[in-house]
Amino acid sequence: MQYSTDTIAAVATPNGSGGMAVIRISGPEAVSCSDQFFQPLRGKLPSQMEGYTCSYGYFINANHEILDDVVLTVFRNPHSYTGEDTVEISCHGGRYLSQKILRTVLTCSRVRLAEAGEFTKRAFLNGKLSLTQAEAVADLISASGENAVRYARTLRDGATFRKISAFSQVILETLSDLAVWADYPDEDIPNIDADTLGVKMQQLLSDMHQLMSSYDYGKILREGLHTVIAGKPNVGKSTLFNVLSGCERSIVTDIAGTTRDVVEEQIRLGDVILRLSDTAGVHHTADTVEKIGVERSLSSLAQADLILAVFDMSQPLSDEDRVLLDKLPAEKTILVYNKSDKSSAAFNQDFLLQFSPVDTVEISAKNQDNITELQNAVEHFAARHATPAEDGMIANERQRVCLENAISAVQEAADALAMGFALDAVTVSLDAAADALLQLTGERVTDKVVDTVFSRFCVGK
Ligand code: GDP
Repeated sequence: MQYSTDTIAAVATPNGSGGMAVIRISGPEAVSCSDQFFQPLRGKLPSQMEGYTCSYGYFINANHEILDDVVLTVFRNPHSYTGEDTVEISCHGGRYLSQKILRTVLTCSRVRLAEAGEFTKRAFLNGKLSLTQAEAVADLISASGENAVRYARTLRDGATFRKISAFSQVILETLSDLAVWADYPDEDIPNIDADTLGVKMQQLLSDMHQLMSSYDYGKILREGLHTVIAGKPNVGKSTLFNVLSGCERSIVTDIAGTTRDVVEEQIRLGDVILRLSDTAGVHHTADTVEKIGVERSLSSLAQADLILAVFDMSQPLSDEDRVLLDKLPAEKTILVYNKSDKSSAAFNQDFLLQFSPVDTVEISAKNQDNITELQNAVEHFAARHATPAEDGMIANERQRVCLENAISAVQEAADALAMGFALDAVTVSLDAAADALLQLTGERVTDKVVDTVFSRFCVGK
């Protein structure tokens, strides 16, 4: 893929006031352009500086007016983030000043404003990063939560790339064995043994499936755990929802059935991001509006990653509670016994004990008692889905589709072997698998895909 070798510049730090801001310039003119506007207090002009060195001085405009005192750092190609000559100007914070410096830089000929993600795109195009690593940079920027940051950093260091490269290696070796065997049938080359090849393919498939299973956890880190608060009317769902989200979004009343629709909110509970839905109570109703809400809440149970099923400890369990319990998938349900502040002896847990939930927590949503216990239970649940960061991760839909295509192509190859098809058929499938993996890492990828990946970035990265 080709790109123009003009020089790009942008403010690399977020908008808004802060202690300092950084303007980044990358490309062949980065250093000569900086020479025009930087007056070193003691040291050298940028063009005289070695890579990885910095200098303190004034940033001046075309009229020789001082705009700010700055620290200027020079990175020499290829030892920079983009792989090009790069200059970073650290000035005092504030949008006004950083924009003024940027505008001055942009008056240099052949220097233009960077597009979103263009610095990282250049790093990719210069072979500094694989596409999966570049995507991890975008994830790092938007990561919320310690786990998400840790994962994004490991992926930025190339964990997924290494894993995919190992898969590609197995496939390419097999393809080369098959090619030698097909091209030189008369030579004294050991026959390809379909059984050994079959075992190799099965191992590869199992490794690929294992990597694919990391996608669910990646989704949880990125988007949060899709969590539904379920329960019959008046058990305290909205109160719990409000406690967790820290604001009054649902209507809390004593009239049964007032939460008619699914309200959604993204919150952080400890280190877990929850996409929290408060559903209409699951109960029998003749009211049409409520009925729609109930249907929606049942379908949201099926789609949820986690269900907080709320029961009222101040009353005996009712038929409605039992109906709800019937619909709950135990493996993703935490039972929440609410209203512990007025718990009644009539609350009969025996029935609930037959159910094997992920966890059971007693709380008082109204008094905010034991919410930390609930937080611990949710964190434990999320941790059970965790895969070691070092094993790499399928972090987004683009990567998932590529890996899925690779898996089905390897599966085709394995099937062809098992059915005793000609080895040509195996070669065709393995070629397709290798292609899908090269697309995943970005080694063989279309301009359109690259543009889509980098359009997710912010300007300056
Ligand atoms: P929902 O219909 O399940 O959403 O229930 P709400 O959150 O609207 O609560 C129904 C009633 O129960 C309200 O009057 C709440 O104030 C009350 N409530 C909720 N949680 C508790 C609790 O922990 N203890 C007590 N005593 N009352 C609660």
